[in-house]
Amino acid sequence: MKITVNGRIAGTKETGCALCGGTWGDYYEEIDGEKLFFCCDICALEFVNMLKEVKKRTGWDRIDEIVINGNYSSGRTCVSKRGQKEYKFYIRFNEDAGVETFKEVA
Ligand SMILES: [Zn+2]
Repeated sequence: MKITVNGRIAGTKETGCALCGGTWGDYYEEIDGEKLFFCCDICALEFVNMLKEVKKRTGWDRIDEIVINGNYSSGRTCVSKRGQKEYKFYIRFNEDAGVETFKEVA
């Protein structure tokens, strides 16, 4: 999965956390057969919950690319891609890393 966070490639220890872009921490989670880097378990859980929600709403079996813009407090505007298809959404998480707000963006 190609991941861009606030304009920069992310998802490895070198490039930063797959959700927030932070390079501190040392947490890995296997997602769709790929080992991704996160700064902490909270970011990993948020990312997992986000993908789950996108898959549920689109019916996609996996996601090829995700572009994330924003942060925890303002929420994040994202573009997910599967093949030629694109799905845009806005997401905010609650304190327990669950999805608090999820809106489709036209
Ligand atoms: Zn993070």
